[in-house]
Amino acid sequence: AQPTTRTFKIAAVPADGVGTEVVAAGRAVLDALAAGSGGAFAFDWTEFPWGCGYYERTGRMMDEDGLEALREFDAIYFGAVGWPSVPDHTSLWGLRLKICQNFDQWANIRPVHFHPGITSPLRKADHTPLDWVVVRENSEGEYAGLGGRNLSGRGPGNEVALQTALFTERGCERIIRFAFDLARTRPRKKVSSVTKSNAQQYGMVLWDETFVRVAADYPDVETESVLVDAMSAKFVLKPEDLSVVVASNLNADILSDLGSALAGSLGLAASANLNPERRFPSMFEPVHGSAPDIAGRGLANPIGAIGSAALMLDHFGLPDEAVRVNKAIEATTASGVLTPDVGGTAKTSDVVASVIDHL
Ligand code: ATP
Ligand code: MG
Repeated sequence: AQPTTRTFKIAAVPADGVGTEVVAAGRAVLDALAAGSGGAFAFDWTEFPWGCGYYERTGRMMDEDGLEALREFDAIYFGAVGWPSVPDHTSLWGLRLKICQNFDQWANIRPVHFHPGITSPLRKADHTPLDWVVVRENSEGEYAGLGGRNLSGRGPGNEVALQTALFTERGCERIIRFAFDLARTRPRKKVSSVTKSNAQQYGMVLWDETFVRVAADYPDVETESVLVDAMSAKFVLKPEDLSVVVASNLNADILSDLGSALAGSLGLAASANLNPERRFPSMFEPVHGSAPDIAGRGLANPIGAIGSAALMLDHFGLPDEAVRVNKAIEATTASGVLTPDVGGTAKTSDVVASVIDHL
């Protein structure tokens, strides 16, 4: 065998429910890709057992020195976090958000992609190609974790809670700039900025003003500013008008779930949590959650996770391999190998086998 020229160290964190099934699926695809690379590249995997099961045994969602352990990896490949036995905010903050914040993964990329062979509520009669990307601010905004409960000690029945959103000019500027740079790489050079600045008059107005200021540096890119309620309608009624959609943490979270549902299933959507400066590892994960209703039955759609692996390949500087994986996904859906969530009878393993076959 030829010597391997590049080895990428990947930390696998499958975590909970279907997370374990779809991470195994993505790993199988990447390993097949590496095996066929003639020694050009290889993946060196380390799996971490964290998640809600780990929490039930240890009282922690991850090791105490877990973040240090993750730091040395080229990337983190994540499944899904959450299980009915653990409060959602405990599991989410104890693992996924902890990783995102500690590694300053401030850009969350969520492509909305329509696959051949999958019926979508949006499939237009004229087959207008639909393809856009949600860019989510991933470090502050509504998920900054600021606020408190029962601040005034008013007693039972009168509790007061504050949930404070944090917007910094630097935070707004970097994600908006990221969106413009991404738009320049796409066929349609357009950025849609989403806020609710008519009702939220401080942070979102700062966002709007920053958007206008940054836009001046990109005269070649078309822009629009849309309120989140109107943008929800636009996702459904005029999606052909979208290319890059940039929004705050909460708004983009909701819009990207809407986008993946419009494409046919939550199980299809890929995402990347990037530290664009590359000072820390970035994290790649499907948009969907742990899906307790179907977990452990081999029914999970692995396409979101496999698509996230393709985003990881891009991040590793292997864009041709990323394209190959995405084409193998398309060939698989086009040939009708579909899990139940998108109307088929295939198992997770059938989809994986077909994707590898098409590679
Ligand atoms: P989270 O809060 O972690 O985002 P959630 O409450 O939004 O989780 P999910 O776990 O994403 O919920 O599940 C929502 C629905 O989508 C469920 O009915 C689930 O079965 C379905 N679903 C999610 N992921 C997949 C998948 N990979 N394949 C098939 N169906 C899925
Ligand atoms: Mg969700």
